[in-house]
Amino acid sequence: MKKYTKKYRNIADRLIEKSFPELRGKSFKIVEYNFTKTYGGFVPIINWLGIHKRCRNFSKVELEGLIVHELCHMKDFESMNFFKTLLWGILSNIPVFPRKKLESRVDKRVVKKGYARQRVGVDKKFDVEHPNSYMSADEIKSYAKKIGKW
Ligand SMILES: [Zn+2]
Repeated sequence: MKKYTKKYRNIADRLIEKSFPELRGKSFKIVEYNFTKTYGGFVPIINWLGIHKRCRNFSKVELEGLIVHELCHMKDFESMNFFKTLLWGILSNIPVFPRKKLESRVDKRVVKKGYARQRVGVDKKFDVEHPNSYMSADEIKSYAKKIGKW
C-alpha cells in the first residue's frame, strides 16, 4: 500500500510544483480506498486525496489525469470558507447531487492548467459512478483547442 501512495505522492508533488503554485505547502494526505466505483476523490477539511486500489495499474499519464483532476477539486475548496466547504463536501457526496456543473468547472480548470491530454487519457474511467457528469473526451478536446491548450 505504502509503495503506491508514495508513487501518487511523487506525482502530486511534481504536479503542484509545476502547475499549482497556490497549493504549494498545503498539507494533505494521500490514501488508498477500496469502496465505491469512483477512481479518485478529495475529502475537504480533513484533506484526504483518495485513490481507488483499482488504479494501481494505471499508466503515468492516466495517474496524472486523475490526480490533476483531484488537485483542481482541492483548489476549488481552497477558495471557500469553512461552512461552504462543509456544505459542499457533504452535498457533493449524496447520489442525487447534480454533479455536472461542479465537475465541468473542475475539468475546465484541468484544461486551463495544460493537462487536457492527460485528462482525455483517463476519460473513460471517470464516468463509471456518475455518468454524464464529466466533460467527454470530445468536449475536453474542443474546449482545449478553443483556448489554445491542446
Ligand atoms: Zn471530480
